[in-house]
Amino acid sequence: MRKTSYESPSADSIIFNIIRNEGSINRTDLVANTGFAKSTVSLQINKLIETGIIQEIKPKKSENTVRKLQIEIVPDAGYVIGVFLGIHRLSISLFNLRMETILEAVYDLESILNPEFINRLIIKKIDLLISEAKIQKKSLWGIGLGFPFPVDFHQGISEAPPNLPLWHQYPVQAIYENHFSCPVLLDNDVNVMALGEAYSGIAQDENDFIFVKVGNGIGCGLFMEGRVYRGAKGSAGDIGHIALDRETKLCHCGNIGCLETIAAAPSIAQKGLEVAMTGDSPILQKKLAKNHKVTSKDVGEAAQMGDMFALRIIKESGKNLGSVLAKLVIFANPGMVVIGGGVTKSGTLYLSAIREEILRKATHIATIDLQIRYTDLQDKCGPIGSGRLIIEDIFSSRNFTKTIEGKFNIPNALQDNNGKFL
Ligand SMILES: [Zn+2]
Repeated sequence: MRKTSYESPSADSIIFNIIRNEGSINRTDLVANTGFAKSTVSLQINKLIETGIIQEIKPKKSENTVRKLQIEIVPDAGYVIGVFLGIHRLSISLFNLRMETILEAVYDLESILNPEFINRLIIKKIDLLISEAKIQKKSLWGIGLGFPFPVDFHQGISEAPPNLPLWHQYPVQAIYENHFSCPVLLDNDVNVMALGEAYSGIAQDENDFIFVKVGNGIGCGLFMEGRVYRGAKGSAGDIGHIALDRETKLCHCGNIGCLETIAAAPSIAQKGLEVAMTGDSPILQKKLAKNHKVTSKDVGEAAQMGDMFALRIIKESGKNLGSVLAKLVIFANPGMVVIGGGVTKSGTLYLSAIREEILRKATHIATIDLQIRYTDLQDKCGPIGSGRLIIEDIFSSRNFTKTIEGKFNIPNALQDNNGKFL
């Protein structure tokens, strides 16, 4: 059976990625961190400085009494874009090579039914962001896309979303590659949100965690052994369509009793609407009269205020989700479960119900140190994760040399006989 073969990373990519992770570091510490000979570190550092991707600077007096030269990435040597598409919202962020946000933009969307229109719009908005930031197109090193439906990650195409038929087998990645002439990666929204949490959120110290997005649907990103686990076809973590016994509601996927029909935001809102209409919940009745609708956030707020019917809805939904998550916790033994998405606006009672059910149903060993928390990145999680999706790929040991060769005019002294970066 064919298994993944792991190439040994090159010395320059190891050194570069340590500098990237540390922010800034001196040569002595680099020798200690890598275990390479001093001469190897020196050679690689000098080579990378010559390309212009890293620089050596004198720290300010107050920062370091020894005042050893510090090596850091030249932040504006290049940029990446993170695009996060929701059902009604589009977020685009421009990051420098240190993943500092340079510019960001958010747009409300009527509908994402038409892929041709949506992709044209996104491309236009990326072009606008680049021109506002006054950077040249060639300085764009990559684009990461997080879209709200299943995707074939390896081919860069969207798969068959039952409610968005026009997106079936749509060549998303190729459209952006053709327009921007830079590397592009497409992944689903929960996987990029997991990446956002892994690098910039509360899960930064976790090597194994689960990110669960609860909004209009329910999905889950599995971050296992330091990377996103996507499965054979890229659909790993599609837990919204795990069917629960005794549930009878028809799901848009065609199955009956799927988790997302009873625990996602629309189901919480629908149940809230019912108790508002019957008058069982006076708080929600007032909300309905005022806003002509009831949202999952309204139900959460009513529950926080002690409304018994709202409380029951929130607890039941949290319990149903917790029941499925307990199985995942037993199966994958994550160190943390991070809950994100619109439902976090329902308040902490929902989280408590999830936590209670996981602790009740999962094994002692799997829950003893398990943390179950809401994300604190909120809406930033998606675009940051999309940016991470691409920047981690272009600087991976597999792509590092190609990225550097493609972006810099490598001086002759640093080329071998075939013009390759030494
Ligand atoms: Zn379903």
